[in-house]
Amino acid sequence: MASGAQNDNNSQATPNTADMNPGDDAPPGTPGTGEDVCPDCSGKGKVQGGTECPNCGGTGKVIKGVAGG
Ligand SMILES: [Zn+2]
Repeated sequence: MASGAQNDNNSQATPNTADMNPGDDAPPGTPGTGEDVCPDCSGKGKVQGGTECPNCGGTGKVIKGVAGG
């Protein structure tokens, strides 16, 4: 981010969905959500063969809603 970045388009406080992984319910930091162990890789961040887990992006964690359900 070296060039003059202006926030013309994003005047609203939209969650940064770019940080989301397929297994996330919401972007990191979203109120009412929390980290959970990725069910696909059991928190290892890798699936069989050593490939980075696509569900959690290799973090071993996914964001899940924790608000009372
Ligand atoms: Zn995973």
